[in-house]
Amino acid sequence: MRSFIEEIQAIVGPAGLITLPQEVAPYASDWRKRYVGKPAAVVKPASTAEVAEVVRACAESRTAIVPQGGNTGLCGAATPDASGTQIVLNLSRMNRVRAIDTRNNTMTVEAGCVLAKLQNTAEEAGRLFPLSLAAEGSCEIGGNLSTNAGGTAVLRYGNARELVLGLEVVLPSGEVWDGLRGLRKDNTGYDLKQLFIGAEGTLGVITAAVLKLFPLPKSHATAVVALETPEKAVALLERALGACGERLTGFELFSDFCLSLVLKHFGDTAAPFPRRFPHYVLMELSDTQSGEGVRVLVESMLEAALEERNILDAAVAQSETQSRAFWSLREFISEAQAHEGPNIKHDVSIPISRISEFIATTDAELERAYGGLRMVTFGHLGDGNLHYNVSAPEGVAPGVFVMHTAAINRIVHDSVARLGGSISAEHGLGQLKRDEIQRYKSPLELELMRKLKRALDPQGIMNPGKVL
Ligand code: FAD
Ligand code: ZN
Repeated sequence: MRSFIEEIQAIVGPAGLITLPQEVAPYASDWRKRYVGKPAAVVKPASTAEVAEVVRACAESRTAIVPQGGNTGLCGAATPDASGTQIVLNLSRMNRVRAIDTRNNTMTVEAGCVLAKLQNTAEEAGRLFPLSLAAEGSCEIGGNLSTNAGGTAVLRYGNARELVLGLEVVLPSGEVWDGLRGLRKDNTGYDLKQLFIGAEGTLGVITAAVLKLFPLPKSHATAVVALETPEKAVALLERALGACGERLTGFELFSDFCLSLVLKHFGDTAAPFPRRFPHYVLMELSDTQSGEGVRVLVESMLEAALEERNILDAAVAQSETQSRAFWSLREFISEAQAHEGPNIKHDVSIPISRISEFIATTDAELERAYGGLRMVTFGHLGDGNLHYNVSAPEGVAPGVFVMHTAAINRIVHDSVARLGGSISAEHGLGQLKRDEIQRYKSPLELELMRKLKRALDPQGIMNPGKVL
């Protein structure tokens, strides 16, 4: 009888199978190198038919499957366990754009397409695909959909869930569900595609999707605004939405400590103002009209805010280079923070109206418990999503500090729950927050999730140990 690996090799060919330990290694750990697994093999199918055959073979032998895209996820959801029995099913070879329909404003793409490539493909067709995040050069659309990725344009265009019209999915049985419809209206029962979006590979393998396209903006404006408090930033958001409406594309908050980390670790960055302020907002506006319209709009809005003393200073980018320089102050924060050593990360969402209360009360509670913590608070304020990260006090070794992770998580996540928030806004649960979520979701909601999982994956072979 053929071995399981020989059977897989017969399906995907030599180009689709990796078993040598040194070649398997990059697929066996996560981006942050927090989890390291030991897969039986890495399987890289080149078509939906191959995915279906591989999944069928796994179902027959009850082999667990860990789907993987660009492997940039931040909660260990694409990392196999250490048993040596699970396979990593990497979709990167399925990277064709199957069709673009500019009249329907859709494109049909395979799961392994890198996000940046899809942004370029859309632009070449005179359209915008708006999903945008710092990992866009290596994350893949199958991973983006499976994590319901957010990023920096959610305020205007929504997260990944809102950018999809149809899906093709290989179910845990190996059957292929062709749901590749390009319809904006389709009320014919349950919206099945939404089950697989944000499921972190626990219900099936996404092989292709129909994505929404939007008009390509012809002008944009970028501004950095200095503020006294996060409360003032929330007030500015309200004002900006009133004045600029849907032109407001991104609205990001970062503290002066975040700025200092970026300036320290990235030599070619510069502070936006001659003096420093407690907090900053980065605003991005875009418009399908060309010309100076959006810049004039944002300038007059900020002038009024300055006159009323609601903001402390503002700078509107005067060139493309300056706009990129402003954005790098926000985008380099995660990496700058990584250079400082380990820290305790939180990816939380709170109703926007309660976000400044969250920051004030949680900062105070952490200070009472630990004293001297350095808060790396930044994120997508326009979506109510903060990356509320906690760094060791000066003089405390980061490696020792992270031993307090469970206690600090408890303070932060309980505070989130009190204010009606979520402990995972955009990164997902994976293995990182699988146990933590048990404390914050109701037993009924968790049981509904388990029932869905059992119905679709009765053998439990799809990404076991993640989410639930
Ligand atoms: P992977 O990491 O490979 O997989 C993620 C999950 O999806 C796993 O559960 C995996 O099993 C599953 N999966 C992958 N492909 C499939 C498939 N075809 N079918 C079924 N399941 C599948 N995330 C945000 O939301 N917003 C941000 O702003 C953001 N910024 C980031 C910045 C940096 C520097 C980094 C490193 C990460 C950031 N992330 C962000 C997290 C990450 O990039 C996203 O979660 C991204 O969507 C993951 O895509 P991926 O292809 O790398 O997926
Ligand atoms: Zn983010």
